[in-house]
Amino acid sequence: MINFQYARAGDVADAVRQIAADPKAKFIAGGTNLIDLMKEDVERPSRLIDISRLPLKSVEETAEGGLRIGALVPNSDLAYHPLIAQRYPMLASAILAGASAQLRNMASTGGNLLQRTRCYYFYDIATPCNKREPGSGCSAITGLNRMHAILGTSEACIATHPSDMCVALAALDATVHTAGPAGARAIAFSDFHRLPGDTPQRDTSLQANEIVTAVELPARGFAANYTYLKIRDRLSYAFALVSVAAALELEGDMIKEARVALGGVAHKPWRATRAEELLRGGSATVDAFARAADAELARARPLRDNRYKVPIARNLIVRTLMELA
Ligand SMILES: Cc1cc2nc3c(=O)[nH]c(=O)nc-3n(C[C@H](O)[C@H](O)[C@H](O)COP(=O)(O)OP(=O)(O)OC[C@H]3O[C@@H](n4cnc5c(N)ncnc54)[C@H](O)[C@@H]3O)c2cc1C
Ligand code: SF4
Repeated sequence: MINFQYARAGDVADAVRQIAADPKAKFIAGGTNLIDLMKEDVERPSRLIDISRLPLKSVEETAEGGLRIGALVPNSDLAYHPLIAQRYPMLASAILAGASAQLRNMASTGGNLLQRTRCYYFYDIATPCNKREPGSGCSAITGLNRMHAILGTSEACIATHPSDMCVALAALDATVHTAGPAGARAIAFSDFHRLPGDTPQRDTSLQANEIVTAVELPARGFAANYTYLKIRDRLSYAFALVSVAAALELEGDMIKEARVALGGVAHKPWRATRAEELLRGGSATVDAFARAADAELARARPLRDNRYKVPIARNLIVRTLMELA
């Protein structure tokens, strides 16, 4: 174990001051991902800035009819919050599909957004990994890549983002609120996580000296007609191989609005925009669902071990939409 300093942040401004003063410092919230990475020697922060006591633990209604979720609301509290359960049940389902009850009690909203990939080579410091050590190579491209991405990959990295919660947040069009030395920012959820490109070491558009303060949900929650379905190796306590968050607004059999996001297939929660465009304004039929799924997955670039994800993703999209219709 390397030596590191520990300090508590007094308030958000103090947290920002402390992180800006030390580029090798890291925030710690629930610690369920960061401590594991430190034990594996993947993360080597010089200082842990404990933000777990900051007053970012409430869920509040916004003037626009949505909800503002503090970055330190535990995943369990969020899933069982009455306003989430009533108005955004897709988010509750996605959270409860992840990890275990004990982990969800510790895990925070902000930490869930910023959890790192579960690529086995990223965790194994004896192997090359561009995300851990830029320029060293990607062991997964020619190695074991059963868990890896099929969409939006690059020559540098084929890792996936492991969160369930974030797949629902992508489908719901959430906004991430941050604070930093230059002030507050609001980042559209689709711009928060990044594709790997040639800088896979950067998972998100958050700057190193910024803190996530909240996640905001718009008023539209799709509570009437939604689903979150997760395919995994075991029925519980396993990360998604492929997951789908989907919602429909129907008028008769005409689709007024469609939301489809995929987990386990890309470096970021994958909003299926091509599928959504094809679905909007059309009829809710099995053929239309299959056409939309095929159009979305036409850009998939699977490798040796993860080809199975393409038919799974296709069938999952069709099946969830059939259930909703
Ligand atoms: C065995 C196991 C199984 C799991 N299974 C699943 C699963 O099936 N699905 C799933 O979605 N997740 C799963 N998880 C992951 C879990 O959801 C995450 O570990 C958790 O959400 C991280 O939250 P945390 O508060 O503990 O983050 P921490 O570990 O405290 O922090 C994680 C990262 O976020 C940064 N950070 C935290 N809060 C902020 C903030 N407010 N602003 C800026 N940076 C911040 C930290 O610096 C760190 O880099 C699993 C984890 C484990 C250990
Ligand atoms: S897929 Fe990404 S995280 Fe995994 S070994 Fe390659 S560069 Fe590293």
